[in-house]
Amino acid sequence: MNEHVLIVEDEKDTVELLKYNLEKEGYKTEVAYNGEDALKAYKQHRPDLVLLDIMMPGIDGWEVCRELRRKNRSIPVIMLTALSTEDERIKGLTIGADDYIPKPFSVRELLLKVKRFAEKESFIRGIQSPADSDTLDYIVHELKNSLISLEGYSSLAMKKGDSGRYLPYIKDGARHMGNLLNDVSLLSMLEKGEMLPLKSVSIMEEVKRVVDIFQEEAVKSRVDLSILNTSAATITGNATAVRQALLNLVSNAVKYNLAGGRVMVWLDDEAEFVKVRVKDTGIGIPPEEMPRIFDKRYRVRGGGQAKGNGLGLYIVDLLMKAMGGEIDVASKEGHGSTFTVSFRKV
Ligand code: ADP
Repeated sequence: MNEHVLIVEDEKDTVELLKYNLEKEGYKTEVAYNGEDALKAYKQHRPDLVLLDIMMPGIDGWEVCRELRRKNRSIPVIMLTALSTEDERIKGLTIGADDYIPKPFSVRELLLKVKRFAEKESFIRGIQSPADSDTLDYIVHELKNSLISLEGYSSLAMKKGDSGRYLPYIKDGARHMGNLLNDVSLLSMLEKGEMLPLKSVSIMEEVKRVVDIFQEEAVKSRVDLSILNTSAATITGNATAVRQALLNLVSNAVKYNLAGGRVMVWLDDEAEFVKVRVKDTGIGIPPEEMPRIFDKRYRVRGGGQAKGNGLGLYIVDLLMKAMGGEIDVASKEGHGSTFTVSFRKV
C-alpha cells in the first residue's frame, strides 16, 4: 500500500499520535504545522489524503480545504476538529471536505476512514492515464455523432426542398462542434501550462458582448437576460479568455434555467478585483454536488435535459487561475445559482 498521508495539525502531541499510528499501518506521512506549510507540502509531495485540523494560526483549515479543492478536486480531505456543531460539520462538507472527525478522536475510527479514502484515491490515480485518453475518446465520439447528424439533416433539406425546417438543426450541430473544438484547443493549451498573454481588458465591453451573443438563445428559452449595472474598470486578463469564461457561465445560467426565469449579470468594483456575478433563477445545484461541479467532465445527474460536455466550469476555473483570478459559486437547489468570477484590476 504505502499511501501517502499529509497531516496538517499545530498540536505536537496530536501530530505524534497520528504519525505513530499511521506509520504503524504502513502509511507514509508528511507533517505541516500550519496552513501555509500545508499548501507547500501538498505541492511538493502530492499526498493521497489530507488530515486537516481546522483551528490553526494563519491560514485556517477551512481556507486550506478550499485551496486544496481548487488545486485537486478529488483529493480526500478529512477534517479534524474540536468544534462539533452541526453548522461546522455542514460548513466543512460544503467547502468540500470528504469527512469529519471530532476531537478527541478514536484512533481506530480514524484509521478506518483514512484507509477507505486513501485507497480509493490511489486507485483512481492508478487508472487515470496521463494522456487522459477518455476525454479524447469522448471528443472523437461527439464530433462523429455531430457530423453524422449534420450530414443527415443536410441531405433531408436537399431532398425535401424544405431547407428552412432543417436549418436550425444544422446550425445547432455546427455550433456544438464549434464549442467542442474551442474547448479542446483551450484545454490543451491550459493543461500544458502555457501562459495566456495578459493585457488590460475593459470588462464591461466583454460582459456586454457575451450578453448580446446569448440574447437570442435566452429569448428562445423564455429567460430574461439582463445586465444590472456598468463599470469603467479595466482588468488584467486576456480578452479571449475573459469572453470564454463569461460565455460558459452565461450559457449555463440560461441552459439550467426554467421558462419565465431570469439571468442577471452585474459587476462589483472592489479595491483589487472586479467581480462579475452571473445569477440565475434556475434549477440550482444540490449541495452534495457542489464540490464536484468544477471537475473535468463532471455533470450533475438529472440536471435537466440540457446538453453539455462537463468541460465548461473546469475550463472557467483554469482560465481564471491563468489570469490570477478566481471563481466562486453559491447555489440553492430549486432556487438558482450565482457564479462569481473575480478579475484582478490593472
Ligand atoms: P456542462 O454544462 O457541459 O454539463 P459544466 O462544467 O459547465 O458542464 O457544468 C457542470 C455541471 O454543473 C452541469 O452539468 C450542471 O449540472 C451544473 N451547473 C453548472 N452551472 C449551473 C447553473 N447555473 N445552474 C445549475 N446547475 C449548473
